[in-house]
Amino acid sequence: MRAARFDVAVVGAGVFGAWIAWHQTGAGRRVLLIDQHGPANTRASSGGESRVIRCAYGPGALYTRMAQQSLTQWREFFDRIGRPELFQATGVLWMAMRGQAAAEQSVAALAAAGVAHEVLDAKALRTRYPQIQVPDQGWAIFEPHSGALLARRAVQAVVADACARGAEYWRDQVLPLTAASRAAGLVTHSGARIEADQIVYACGPWLDQVLPEAMAGRLFVTRQEVHYFGVPADESRFGPAQLPTWMDFDGEWYGMPDLESRGFKLACDRHGPAVDPERQERTPTPEGIDSARAFLARRFPTLADAPLLGTEVCQYENSSNGDFVLDRHPGLERVWLAGGGSGHGFKHGPAVGEYLLKLMAAEIEPEPRFSLASKSTTQQRAVH
Ligand SMILES: Cc1cc2nc3c(=O)[nH]c(=O)nc-3n(C[C@H](O)[C@H](O)[C@H](O)COP(=O)(O)OP(=O)(O)OC[C@H]3O[C@@H](n4cnc5c(N)ncnc54)[C@H](O)[C@@H]3O)c2cc1C
Repeated sequence: MRAARFDVAVVGAGVFGAWIAWHQTGAGRRVLLIDQHGPANTRASSGGESRVIRCAYGPGALYTRMAQQSLTQWREFFDRIGRPELFQATGVLWMAMRGQAAAEQSVAALAAAGVAHEVLDAKALRTRYPQIQVPDQGWAIFEPHSGALLARRAVQAVVADACARGAEYWRDQVLPLTAASRAAGLVTHSGARIEADQIVYACGPWLDQVLPEAMAGRLFVTRQEVHYFGVPADESRFGPAQLPTWMDFDGEWYGMPDLESRGFKLACDRHGPAVDPERQERTPTPEGIDSARAFLARRFPTLADAPLLGTEVCQYENSSNGDFVLDRHPGLERVWLAGGGSGHGFKHGPAVGEYLLKLMAAEIEPEPRFSLASKSTTQQRAVH
C-alpha cells in the first residue's frame, strides 16, 4: 500500500481545487492534489470550453469584489505563464428589461466597486449590436474589461503551475468520509493511505457523495446543456470583435461570440433535472435544442436556422441558495469543504483559493454566507 505525508491534501482538481492547491503551494505548504478523472475532466463542472467572468451581481458587494479580485489574478497568471489567450477580453453585456431590480441594483454596485461599465438603452443597443433583437423595454450593462475564460485549459494550466511550484498531483479516487470510515483517514480506491495535516474536499457535484453525512440533502446537482451554432461564412457580426459575451437575464439565457471558430455558444441558466455527475449521459435532448432555437429566433434572428455544431452536457452543483460552501467540516477540525459553485463559481476560483488559504490559517473571520450551516435542504435560488 502506498503511503505519503503532506501538509495539505486537496481532493478534486476542478477550478476550486486547482486554485486552492496553487495558493497553498505558493504559501510554502507541501500539497497533494488528487482527482479521480483528471483536472477539469469532461464530467467535471469545470470541464467546459469557456466560462463567463463578469462583476455585476445585483446589489451585494461580496461576489462583485471576488470577481474583480479573481479577474486580476486570472490575467496576471495567464500573462506570467505566457498564455494570455486563456482570457478572452470580449467584454460582457448583461441585457435586462426595464424594472428588473437585480440589474438596476448592479449598476450602483459596480459604480461603488469602481468597476468600469456603461449603461446602454434600447436605442444604443440596437445601434451598437444590430445582430441582437432588442425589445423596447430592453437595456443593458456593458463591462468592457470582463469576458470569457477558456475553462478546461485554464484549470489544467493552474494545476500544471501548482505542480511546477512543488505540488504533487495524483490521479486516484478518494473513498467517502463517513463516521464509520473516519478512523481509516484519507484512503484511495487504489489503496493509498494519505497523511495530511489538513484536507480540503473540493469535489464539485460529487461533494455529497464523498461527504454523504456532512452534505446530506444540501447539494442540488442539475443537468445543464450548452449548444454551439454555426455562423454563416459571410457574417462577421458574431465574432469576438463585434459581439461581447452576453447574458439575457429575462430569458435566463447566456452565451458567447464565436470564440476560436468553435461556434456561437448558447446556454440556458434555468436549472435542469437532478443528475448524477458520474453516470449521466452527455447527449443533448431534442427539447433542449428546440428551446435554444426558439431563443435564437427571438434574440439573434440571423442565426435562427444556423446548424448545431456541437453540444456540452454538464451539471451545476447548486447549494440551496447559490452561495458557496467554503467551511470547516462540521465534526472534524482539520477537514474543509469547498463547493456549491452553483452555476457561477468558475470565475471566482482564484479568490476562493485565497479565501481558504487565509481561513485555514485563521487569518480571517469566516464569511457567514459561505458557511455550511447557512445552507438548507430546500432549494431557493438567490444568487445568479
Ligand atoms: C454548463 C455550465 C456553465 C457554467 N457557466 C459558468 C460561467 O459562465 N461562469 C462561472 O463563473 N461559472 C460557471 N459555471 C459554474 C462553474 O463552472 C462551477 O461552479 C465550477 O466549475 C465548479 O468547480 P469545482 O472545482 O467546484 O467542481 P468540478 O469542476 O466538478 O471539480 C470537482 C473535481 O472533483 C473530482 N472528484 C470528485 N470526487 C472525487 C473523489 N472521490 N476522489 C477524487 N476526485 C474526486 C472530480 O473528478 C472533479 O474533477 C458553469 C457550470 C456549468 C456546468
